[in-house]
Amino acid sequence: MDNRLIYLDNNATTPTDPRVVDAMIPYFHQLHGNAASRNHPFGWAAEEAVDNARNQIADLISVDPREIIFTSGATESDNLALKGVYEMYSRKGNHIITLKTEHKAVLDSCKRIEKMGGEITYLDVNDKGLVNLEELEAAITDKTILVSIMFANNETGVIQPMKEIGDICAKKGVLFMSDATQAVGKIPVNPKELGIHLMAFTGHKMYGPKGVGVLFVNRKNPRVKVTAQIDGGGHERGMRSGTLNVPGIVGMGKACALAQAEMIDEAKRLSALRDKLETGLCQLEETYINGDVNNRMPHVTNISFKHVEGEGLMMTFNQNIGVSSGSACTSASLEPSYVLIALGLGDDLAHSSIRFSLGRFTTDEDIDLAIKQVSEGVTHMRDLSPIWEMYKEGVDLDAVQWSAH
Ligand SMILES: *Cc1c(COP(=O)(O)O)cnc(C)c1O
Repeated sequence: MDNRLIYLDNNATTPTDPRVVDAMIPYFHQLHGNAASRNHPFGWAAEEAVDNARNQIADLISVDPREIIFTSGATESDNLALKGVYEMYSRKGNHIITLKTEHKAVLDSCKRIEKMGGEITYLDVNDKGLVNLEELEAAITDKTILVSIMFANNETGVIQPMKEIGDICAKKGVLFMSDATQAVGKIPVNPKELGIHLMAFTGHKMYGPKGVGVLFVNRKNPRVKVTAQIDGGGHERGMRSGTLNVPGIVGMGKACALAQAEMIDEAKRLSALRDKLETGLCQLEETYINGDVNNRMPHVTNISFKHVEGEGLMMTFNQNIGVSSGSACTSASLEPSYVLIALGLGDDLAHSSIRFSLGRFTTDEDIDLAIKQVSEGVTHMRDLSPIWEMYKEGVDLDAVQWSAH
């Protein structure tokens, strides 16, 4: 029995690359200065390190380093983008358009904005998880100030048609914001080419440290500004005050440099492993892949094992394999994933889904073991299940009248 622990939950957080940790360490010790201290070498060294990281990050997404605003993570970046645009552009309008499948950091910011008097349109997605471009265009009014659509979904890996969305926003003269947390560092992302004006991402989803994130804010054509949500010393061009997290920023810079050098080859390696995992698991009957398999991140698969309850299934192997059912943020409750519900899955299929997200440290042996253990778990659960037995006997489960509850 192989008792290794296998981590297939990289969409929740990635391990920090040891090369990133090595780059950070001096900034806890001898180079501990405050990047805003202008009067001595400690401050200068810290400022230089921040400048260097800003360049590394800007290079990865092909933008000007002055367009990088440091935050504490993607949640804060999403809040700053949405609330900051809402406040800054309130004279132009109060309407924001987003998707039902966005991350909670976007959806809950939108709810807050509704309480402040804003109007939010939450667009549906189709059964593959994609936005309908005609519906998007039709939803834009003369009160619309912002469209916020994520790059790649955290639960399914589905990638939205960013260029087409950017073109619609440009044509209609509205700002385009994207939570690109799951895409940056894994696939090439170029906001300028896609017409994205604000873009959020975070260190700990790309082998950097936790607690540091970025909001890209376009500086020219158009010059975009957001109202600060955290006031203080006027750091980060007045958009986000607070002493910079120098070690974290250095780590995020290093993570971006590594991603830039390695992500193309890494994406090929991971998609091959992901495909192997899918092929292995889809040997099981009544197994469905959720989301558009043609527009997807290379390292993610979300699979429903029909008539198997996902949380129970996970218990059969979670001593060995870390995955998630639904999204990590809501898995404390047993609500089915709102993302999968938005794709039109019934409660049963949504409840039976598992997200596997591979990463830089996933090996071929990990995938072999995952296929074996998950397959055994599914078979075991189904062997115990009266519903599965009825299904095998040919009972039409949709026609069964279950007793009232
Ligand atoms: C993880 C995640 C976030 C939150 O990022 P933090 O840095 O943990 O705040 C936001 N959006 C998406 C799509 C994510 O996957």
